[in-house]
Amino acid sequence: METVKFTELDIKPEILKAVANMGFEAMSPIQAKAIPEVMAGHDVIGQAQTGTGKTAAFGIPLLQKIDPKNRKLQAIILCPTRELAIQVADEIRRLSKFMHGIKILPVYGGQDINRQIKALKGGAQIIIGTPGRVMDHLRRKTIRCEAVNTIVLDEADEMLNMGFREDIETILEYIPEEGRQTVLFSATMPKPILDITKKYQHDAVTIK
Ligand code: AMP
Repeated sequence: METVKFTELDIKPEILKAVANMGFEAMSPIQAKAIPEVMAGHDVIGQAQTGTGKTAAFGIPLLQKIDPKNRKLQAIILCPTRELAIQVADEIRRLSKFMHGIKILPVYGGQDINRQIKALKGGAQIIIGTPGRVMDHLRRKTIRCEAVNTIVLDEADEMLNMGFREDIETILEYIPEEGRQTVLFSATMPKPILDITKKYQHDAVTIK
């Protein structure tokens, strides 16, 4: 496959600067396929393992779409573990290094909830969290979804293996369906994953 440079796509200069800063030159295969589709606003099903560059594959289009002037929560990324949530938050922070007014907050179980509530009150446009804790905040109304237009399910198969299916579906129900972009990444595509894609995605594009 021919390599695609990040500069070939209509990506904001601040993001391109960060990408260059991180030492990325060509897009990885999953990025070359996924970034244009996610940037076009499509729902995407991405079959990809870790280490393929999938975080930037959804992170770049996500940052491209965020309105920094709007202080409300606009995107939720769900991850199976605290470690992955921190890792994804770090990568997206690096990608947003030259953007102004973007707040990114990891929210996971095991961390003091009152500290999280305080941080959430400060306003974050992007939350990266584990399903159980995000669910908890939604019930407490310390996370509000009225302005959320993008949800990413990262390592969806792992989240299902860990018993998060009900939480994921409840979280998806909280997010306004009108204008919602739902992006799902998974290493494997067992039936429960396909059921979620059928139930919550519209005209999804599949990428391998
Ligand atoms: P991920 O699969 O998202 O966990 O990414 C794996 C690693 O590859 C991370 O350290 C990324 O920073 C790095 N990476 C992602 N995209 C690229 C790229 N296009 N070129 C070089 N490294 C990359």
